[in-house]
Amino acid sequence: SFGKDLGKAHQNILIIGAGLCGSLLALRLGQRGYNVSVYEMRPDLRKVDISAGRSINLAFSNRGNKAMKLVGIEDKVKALCIPMNGRMIHDKKGNTSLSNYSGQDYEYINSIARGDLNALLLDEAEKHENVNIYFNKKCKSVDFEKTTALFQDYQTKHEFIEDADVIIATDGAGSAMRKSYYLGKKFLFSFSQDYLTHGYKELSILPKANGDYKAYKNALHIWPRGSFMLIALPNLDGSFTVTLFLSYDEGEYNFNNLTTEVLVLEFFQKEFPDALAIMPNLIDDFFKNPTAPLGTIKCSPWHYKGNTLLMGDAAHAIVPFYGQGMNASFEDVVEFDNVLDQNLESWEATFTAYERARKKDTDAIADLAIDNFHEMKDHVVHPVFQEKRKLEMALEKEFPKEYASKYSLVTFNEDIGYQEAMLKGRAQDKAILNLLSDKLITVDGDLKTTLEKIKQETNAILEDDRIAGLK
Ligand code: FAD
Repeated sequence: SFGKDLGKAHQNILIIGAGLCGSLLALRLGQRGYNVSVYEMRPDLRKVDISAGRSINLAFSNRGNKAMKLVGIEDKVKALCIPMNGRMIHDKKGNTSLSNYSGQDYEYINSIARGDLNALLLDEAEKHENVNIYFNKKCKSVDFEKTTALFQDYQTKHEFIEDADVIIATDGAGSAMRKSYYLGKKFLFSFSQDYLTHGYKELSILPKANGDYKAYKNALHIWPRGSFMLIALPNLDGSFTVTLFLSYDEGEYNFNNLTTEVLVLEFFQKEFPDALAIMPNLIDDFFKNPTAPLGTIKCSPWHYKGNTLLMGDAAHAIVPFYGQGMNASFEDVVEFDNVLDQNLESWEATFTAYERARKKDTDAIADLAIDNFHEMKDHVVHPVFQEKRKLEMALEKEFPKEYASKYSLVTFNEDIGYQEAMLKGRAQDKAILNLLSDKLITVDGDLKTTLEKIKQETNAILEDDRIAGLK
């Protein structure tokens, strides 16, 4: 029998990777009384600056915050957050318009620095005597049958094996344990990795000499250009981290052909003149910072018996366009905690129940994130999309309990899973677009009647989907 749960102080849990998910998991399992050892490949980011141009800041929202509430650090995280109330859209002439994320003023997303948040989680985890974190230790492989992991010390190159009752890998999209599952060929392991044809590069808008922001602080700035886009999120120091999403090899300008300063300046002058005006450091950033690919990783099963489990990006890496990868990884910990509360008879039953409850939702957010890639770079500039958005804002404002857009369901309604948000949100989107294009509703029509029509059409679509699914 599990009994293990009652005697959990004697259970040794090994976590691979002290990133966002691993450090939160260590904190939570530490709070629950387990013996937790965490092995991280990189040096301690609280002591060494290792930010090096990779998603420096992130959009943090309700699902992530639900996890911060669980571990009791909501206020500490809030101090690191900059609220972003909406998308500030920049056209080619530099005109801007702000489109709120929700009809409700209290619903917004936040910009947060990855390093600050990770450092806070590490500090909180280490407050527990039963949590130990080791840095500069790279996992090379996992023996999932023996529940052991092979590590190498980054400095001494010394290799050693660690034993545990369970191993949980939160070592990100390039997970070493996932590789061991795949290469081990000991059980049927499904794995898919789909790259976008677009990559990304991080740039920056530095603060004014007096420390002020050079653009409006409380928004996620977007320069949508059809097949590519630029975005910017604020940092606490007055700067913005800017990300260019662009094809590697298609279109007039792409990452492969932007090889000279003249071409990069020409591209920005033509497409993002207002951004260029506040980015005197563009050329430095552009040629110094790496270009990285974007992909979706799905796999199953996440666990091997009751020995090992994948969590966070190691189990489900997604493209960043819904701002949900970290939030989903944090929500994993909440879901796992819920399953632990059930006191099942064994780790195997626990891992199985967790995966059954969670996988459908991480598959859904992976698909939603791809949808939003197209929405952000393209649809946001189309009139019918803007009409739909305007209508949805009015409906959310007027009927906060009765209407929530797909974006709101995914981002602000942390009480429902991603899958439910996706099914309902997609049906609603289809309903509104059908009704608008058939002129059965208009942006300035009576809102109550409009809401009723949307509800009816949405239900009809959901019913069709259900029947199609049953066939
Ligand atoms: P990671 O953060 O990747 O952490 C993995 C950790 O494991 C790291 O510390 C790593 O050093 C360590 N590690 C790796 N391999 C080993 C090994 N072999 N041995 C030991 N340690 C190892 N999400 C959002 O919610 N909002 C956003 O706005 C957002 N924007 C993004 C923008 C970009 C450009 C990208 C690429 C991602 C974005 N994400 C966003 C997603 C988010 O970054 C990830 O979902 C999140 O970091 C996942 O956390 P994790 O702990 O699972 O993995």
